[in-house]
Amino acid sequence: MTFDLQTLVRPNIAALTPYSSARDEFSGTAQVFLDANENSLGSPLKKWFHRYPDPQQMAVKAKLATIKSVDPSNLLLGNGSDECIDILFRCFCEPGKDNVVICPPTYGMYEVSADINNIEIRKAMLLDDYQLNLAHIEQLVDAHTKIIWLCSPNNPTGNSLLREDIAYVLNNFNGLVVLDEAYINFSKQKSWIQELQDYPNLVILQTMSKAWGLAGLRLGITVASREIIAIMNKVKPPYNINQATQDLMLEALEEVGMVNDMIREIVAMRDALIPVFESMPIVEKVYPSDANFFLVKIKEARAVYEFLLTKGIVVRDRSKVVLCDDCLRITVGTEHENTLLVDAFAEWINQKQ
Ligand SMILES: *Cc1c(COP(=O)(O)O)cnc(C)c1O
Repeated sequence: MTFDLQTLVRPNIAALTPYSSARDEFSGTAQVFLDANENSLGSPLKKWFHRYPDPQQMAVKAKLATIKSVDPSNLLLGNGSDECIDILFRCFCEPGKDNVVICPPTYGMYEVSADINNIEIRKAMLLDDYQLNLAHIEQLVDAHTKIIWLCSPNNPTGNSLLREDIAYVLNNFNGLVVLDEAYINFSKQKSWIQELQDYPNLVILQTMSKAWGLAGLRLGITVASREIIAIMNKVKPPYNINQATQDLMLEALEEVGMVNDMIREIVAMRDALIPVFESMPIVEKVYPSDANFFLVKIKEARAVYEFLLTKGIVVRDRSKVVLCDDCLRITVGTEHENTLLVDAFAEWINQKQ
């Protein structure tokens, strides 16, 4: 199997001269910035928000690179992972011609982003135990398959994919394998970041939205070879990460210890909640979770969902999703929120008897 990045990239992207912003062309120190048509007088805020942010986010990447043990040239930051997903489609998939493989039930944005970009989606449903159907993936792949999207731990099922299955896909597919690790911090599995040198076709997505608790700031992380990152850099909007986000990320990235404490607490609450749900008479199954949520198969899932709404509690109704029949996806909350949730379930069960 030979992997050739040059044959994967869309010809128009290979030939593209990217936009060069004022701050791309000047890097150095200066006192007087008259190059970008900013408001030189300042802003209504007592911050440096009148200046365009660093298009390459070097300060944020330097800190992230240390935390992730990679080089900054292996990182591309997006306005959420959702932007990274879109950039990958636009770099590597020719509309109306190429296709990608996804493994449902999984994160919805791969398909939406494919549809927006007019890229054919081929579906290799997960097996009953929510692991990859490798034979089906192999059947679906053809000369126009550019990306296989994998998500581990997977959303909405919560389980991690088997490492040997991920390795099999990486070893037997000439296109890109995008591995979405949005929930990796909650998992017993280790990240594939350390494996990047061995797999030139591996692209890893992570995010500050889940374990780091920063969903509101919108910062998604792509980790891949410097060659893949260089292609993505041509396509990303010049100033996709705003100055406020960059400033706040620098602060947040100092708090690895606090984040690790939160991760431990969330995992402990998840592991305490699951047996509580397993003991409920209406619950048919709680699927094993390596994430900060769990999937519960339940009698009258939709009615339970609506009852919870009347109590002011919103969970995710996945009961109409293929392979998730009668399932609700429940995010681990605070101790208090989890109590409210369990009490509401008890009330529903009582009222049914
Ligand atoms: C929540 C989630 C993300 C995060 O998306 P952002 O745009 O970074 O907030 C990515 N992938 C999966 C599978 C998710 O569940």
